[in-house]
Amino acid sequence: MLCYTTYQYFKFKFNCNCGSKGSLEIGQKPLSFKKGGRLLDEKGRLCCPNDRSPLFSIVEKHIKSNDFEVVCKKCQTLFDKA
Ligand SMILES: [Zn+2]
Repeated sequence: MLCYTTYQYFKFKFNCNCGSKGSLEIGQKPLSFKKGGRLLDEKGRLCCPNDRSPLFSIVEKHIKSNDFEVVCKKCQTLFDKA
C-alpha cells in the first residue's frame, strides 16, 4: 500500500469490504504546513501536484471507504481527502 517514504506524515483510516476497519499513523505532523488541493493520480499512485513526489497508493478493490492526511516531505504541504 505504501511507497517509499516521500511523506513527512501520513495518516490513513479505512473501512474494508470485509467489514474490518483500520487506521495507521506514521511520522510527526509538522507544526506549520501549507494546505494543498487535490493529489494527482498517476497510474494509481497519488502524487504531490507541486513536485510530483509519489506519496502513496490505495488498493481500491478491498477498501470501501477511506480518509487520509498526508504531508509531502519535499514541499511541506498537507493534502487530505477532498
Ligand atoms: Zn510536494
